[in-house]
Amino acid sequence: MAGQRQAFSGMRGIAPTPTYVVMQPTTLCNLDCAYCYLPFRSADRRMPAAVAEAVAGAVNKWSAAGRFSVVWHGGEPLATGREHFATLLAPFDRGVEHHVQTNATLIDDRWCEFFAAHEIRVSVSIDGPRDRNADRVTRGGRPSYDRILCGIEALRRHGIGFSALCVVPRPEPGLATELYDYFLDLGCDVLGINIEELEGVNARSNARDPEAVAGFWSELVGAWRRDPRIHVREVEWSLRYAAAVLDGTADEVLPRQLDPIPTVGYDGSVVLLSPELAGFTDPRYADFTSGNVLTTPLPEIIAGATSGTPWVAEFLAGVEACRATCPYFGFCGGAHAANRYFEHGRFDGTETDHCRNSKIHLLEGVLDHARDHEPPRASRLGAGGPV
Ligand code: SF4
Repeated sequence: MAGQRQAFSGMRGIAPTPTYVVMQPTTLCNLDCAYCYLPFRSADRRMPAAVAEAVAGAVNKWSAAGRFSVVWHGGEPLATGREHFATLLAPFDRGVEHHVQTNATLIDDRWCEFFAAHEIRVSVSIDGPRDRNADRVTRGGRPSYDRILCGIEALRRHGIGFSALCVVPRPEPGLATELYDYFLDLGCDVLGINIEELEGVNARSNARDPEAVAGFWSELVGAWRRDPRIHVREVEWSLRYAAAVLDGTADEVLPRQLDPIPTVGYDGSVVLLSPELAGFTDPRYADFTSGNVLTTPLPEIIAGATSGTPWVAEFLAGVEACRATCPYFGFCGGAHAANRYFEHGRFDGTETDHCRNSKIHLLEGVLDHARDHEPPRASRLGAGGPV
């Protein structure tokens, strides 16, 4: 991408207040997906009520000042059971938005009633039609697709809207259209697409052919434009950025500071910035945690992270290296800490296969689509690059 490099001013340091908190009600998952990054998914370690109470102390104040979300992740969050889940939800004020990221296999009528009663928003992990879900298997290695669909049918019966999160292991021609058409029929409101990542205990390489990846994203925009009934997360990010470039407001797209995204483990330990680092240890970085909510208030943990957690300071140096060298920084903002660590073994590098697949080739694919379909507008972007 040729063109004059713009200096971007966002993503400097860590914001004192997150926009959401990730909670791990249990480490257990009832599935055993081939690409899963979680190290303790066969163990049932449940979050005690005291951890939720400690987190709620901070979250209730943040939500009183504006929209705030708690994302219940896992393991499989529904594996914690309704009764215990209700105990964990109890200390949070009504204004707090709750979300679950679930494999859907445990969803039944009673879970749907629970979601409705607690106003929980649901996001389902599913990789497309039956044959595309070969990696999503039970602990016995059996396909989980029918059970996933059973859960989605329960959501539909109860009129509960849902998002879908789809992992794509190998982008190839025709796949984006197939997936988009599938998710249109499935009836989700929002679709997020993750190109598979080398992360955690998943050591499968994520180096992909750049043309195939850009072609996948370009095709996805085309499929979405033909029938834009669902929000496609990555397409919307890219179009928002492209519009800002055209308007001369590209420097306003990134947040001013990094969102700390605290992930609170079942035991109250807090990992910032990348949930995928939780549960891992390294001789250089110890266990990646910045504190524990049972002994230190969450705002204090966040405030002390840059000086008190060496890997966080190293990651901030990596973000500055991206700012100085990468023409895609205004769109990407330095991507995710966990991808740097699991691909480079440290945090101050720059490009990863993840950022190539999910940032650089995403934006290129969207611009390729624009060039092919809207020559006058696309030529303005194409002449100067994305920045
Ligand atoms: S695309 Fe990669 S190299 Fe560029 S800013 Fe993002 S993480 Fe850094």
